[in-house]
Amino acid sequence: MAMWAGADVIEMECVQFHPTGMVWPLSVRGLLVTEGVRGDGGALENSEGRRFMFDYIPEMFRAETAETEEEADAWYDDHINHRRTPDLLPRDEVARAINSEVKAGRGSPHGGVFLDIASRRPAEYIRRRLPSMYHQFMELAGVDITAEPMEVGPTCHYMMGGVRVHPETQAATVPGLFAAGEVAGGMHGANRLGGNSLSDLLVFGRRAGTGAADFAEARTGDPTVDAAQVEAVLAEAVAPFARDGGENPYELHQDLQATMQSLVGIIRNGPELEQALDKLGELRERAGKVSLGGGRAYNPGWNLATDLPSMLTVSTAIAQGALARKESRGGHTRDDYPGPDPELGKVNFVQRQTDERGYCAPIHIAPEPLPQMPAELQALLEEGH
Ligand SMILES: Cc1cc2nc3c(=O)[nH]c(=O)nc-3n(C[C@H](O)[C@H](O)[C@H](O)COP(=O)(O)OP(=O)(O)OC[C@H]3O[C@@H](n4cnc5c(N)ncnc54)[C@H](O)[C@@H]3O)c2cc1C
Repeated sequence: MAMWAGADVIEMECVQFHPTGMVWPLSVRGLLVTEGVRGDGGALENSEGRRFMFDYIPEMFRAETAETEEEADAWYDDHINHRRTPDLLPRDEVARAINSEVKAGRGSPHGGVFLDIASRRPAEYIRRRLPSMYHQFMELAGVDITAEPMEVGPTCHYMMGGVRVHPETQAATVPGLFAAGEVAGGMHGANRLGGNSLSDLLVFGRRAGTGAADFAEARTGDPTVDAAQVEAVLAEAVAPFARDGGENPYELHQDLQATMQSLVGIIRNGPELEQALDKLGELRERAGKVSLGGGRAYNPGWNLATDLPSMLTVSTAIAQGALARKESRGGHTRDDYPGPDPELGKVNFVQRQTDERGYCAPIHIAPEPLPQMPAELQALLEEGH
């Protein structure tokens, strides 16, 4: 919506995949399995029963990561004299490792890997340490995590990219629009550290509130609403009811999901991203032909039809950004450009709509230099080193 209003968005290619979402049963597909399960003894295993994370320790983390199962298991009881289990490597490392195991044919029956705490800790311990996980899976899926391993795989978790805002006021590039939290971009670089969303919301939520209040106070005259714009939005919203035999919003949603999952997922490459952009073009066209049955009350198909244009804009922005960033950095991984490019580390990819707006309008993209780090922050970082 911000983009349709003319605002800049940045870093849309940076999407965080959490390594352990449930992949099975279907009723809980995508639901998150907290890092706590691995922190309390759960281990990732492939279909051969191998703790494969030992095969994926990157050079950068080698010195601080256990190399054997014995050492990793000893770490749970003694963090000081043993190195940490590779099951708890950063999210993007674990997510890529799971992806590789599945692609190599060593995945679980439903396309993930196994996360096993059942055979490693007593049932009473699991229920005490992980009560919400235990209840969630018992109630929603009939899975007893004290008795059987879970099937998990990477799941889309967090958007690092979003609306470009001023760091002090959270003002977007469109006057009167303020953004804070996950919808804003640029706060977490290319990959957010777990837990940092809470502090983001507290700090930048307050700034956005103050910024918006100052803006409102400084205004003179009454704000006006363009009645023609309101009419146009209303007409677009109800148009699917007047169509017969058009596109089914659920099918469209599924096709969009499948396109993004298979072509703009955790590991990306140029040809697949171009293919995705073509497919997104087709989906945008189909979205203009959605038709709906039933009435306006309690109609989830209508909700979905209303969401589709935003989903298509966000998906297109992500695919475009991912194609433009020819490197791998943080949450963005390109197997045709496997390493980071120092030059690209100095820019944000900025996207905006200019003359034409809306989900069918083109999105322009260009790199722009990152803001200079303030001297006092630079000094703090150097002190930290
Ligand atoms: C499973 C999971 C676990 C997480 N765990 C942690 C954690 O432990 N620690 C941590 O720091 N972060 C965690 N995160 C990330 C963190 O929860 C989110 O980044 C954070 O909640 C985002 O807050 P927000 O206010 O920016 O957005 P949201 O909480 O998404 O709020 C946006 C609100 O806007 C509403 N909205 C949307 N569209 C419209 C519209 N058109 N009109 C009106 N309202 C609208 C939505 O209904 C929603 O209420 C987790 C995320 C997930 C998914």
